[in-house]
Amino acid sequence: MLDFEELEKGFTEEEAIAEASRCLQCKNPLCVQGCPIHNRIPEFIQAIRSRNYAEAIKLINERSNLAVICARVCPHSDQCEGACVLDKKGKGIKISKLERFLADKEMELSLNRVMEKVAVIGSGPAGLTVAGILAREGYRVTVFEARPLPGGVLRYGIPEYRLPKQMVDKQIEIIRNLGVRIDTGVVIGEALTLDQLFSMGYKGIFIGTGTGLSRKLGVPGEDLPGSMQAIYFLETVELVRESRLPASHLPIREGDRVIVVGAGNVAADAARTALRIGAASVDVVDIMAESERRASDKEYFEALHEGAKFQFQTSVAQIHGDSRVTGVTLQGFAPRQIVDGQSRFLPIPGSERELPCDKIIVAIGQKPFARIVSTTTGIKTNERGYVHTQAEPHYGMTTRPGVFAAGDVVHEPQTVILAMREGRRVAEAMDTYLRSLHL
Ligand code: SF4
Repeated sequence: MLDFEELEKGFTEEEAIAEASRCLQCKNPLCVQGCPIHNRIPEFIQAIRSRNYAEAIKLINERSNLAVICARVCPHSDQCEGACVLDKKGKGIKISKLERFLADKEMELSLNRVMEKVAVIGSGPAGLTVAGILAREGYRVTVFEARPLPGGVLRYGIPEYRLPKQMVDKQIEIIRNLGVRIDTGVVIGEALTLDQLFSMGYKGIFIGTGTGLSRKLGVPGEDLPGSMQAIYFLETVELVRESRLPASHLPIREGDRVIVVGAGNVAADAARTALRIGAASVDVVDIMAESERRASDKEYFEALHEGAKFQFQTSVAQIHGDSRVTGVTLQGFAPRQIVDGQSRFLPIPGSERELPCDKIIVAIGQKPFARIVSTTTGIKTNERGYVHTQAEPHYGMTTRPGVFAAGDVVHEPQTVILAMREGRRVAEAMDTYLRSLHL
């Protein structure tokens, strides 16, 4: 009977590290020149020496998709090993065996990884990005969404005229087809805590819940009926549009005189939505100068074109009314200045003026909900409620191992594309972290 057992045995971990430690880390590495695909040989050898196997595997995978096979069948003695500067003395580095050591480790890991569960909290742009990337990598991903339908800000924050919800549904279907499970109506921090998710077998958790709490103006009359937060307004309009609420729930009626406070993209969305519902007038006031407005040019000029009137260096000092909003006192402000080392807007005495109105929409920013953090130990936030994350070695990991975060829960709200970009970076870091649990 012929013996077909694999001839050459691989390195043990100690052998691999000893071999990697012999590498001279040449400035002009001849091994790379000898490699037909220019593998990053000295770098992955250095990563093995530091026992950073996840990094070493990543470096190999940059150039090679078939490392398990290459390590065994490539003619290394004619390529990288033959070119190694130490080969002339008969002491060339066994690059193929180091590559095989890593490739076998990764194979073992991939087979384990398929079984691993990852929880993604929030189905906005960052959450969907992380879910899609990790599902493609073979993880079993469950997205937990508090609302009845997935999409987060894509569904409830961006109006239909800018982003048709049919497109959001299609994108979510693509994510589902990757094997991602989406559980809606589940509030993490209430129905389930992070500790419970870990005990249910989730090895990694991503928090992408965005910013659900609106900042208040802090002026008299703010709680009168008719004064509302922009994210509540936009979400309610969407729920009515989806027929999940009756039209009688629309917070703005035809003919209403509306004041929007703030001049970011959310304010512009609120102003344009109010005009579409039939508001008689929409005045947008913002404490900053026009040159400092946060709304993009596109949003700003389209809102102007559609009939919104902007008043800069102006804010609401008081909201009037008995049983509902009837008007406001507006206050003029000087341009931003530094007072005692702090950036301030100072009111201009005598600039107060009255403006009658029926509705006020406040759009001066949001901050994250505290419910996940407050029901979990070990996750630090800053004084403004944003979650602390690390830059290295696992980008986006919070102060609790295995829990990552990105998007508006980590910093001031940004655009969708920036949330997706960050989601991608964090997903890659989660993958590296989850692999390292097996190394
Ligand atoms: Fe290491 Fe040899 Fe490459 Fe130099 S040529 S970096 S010694 S493997």
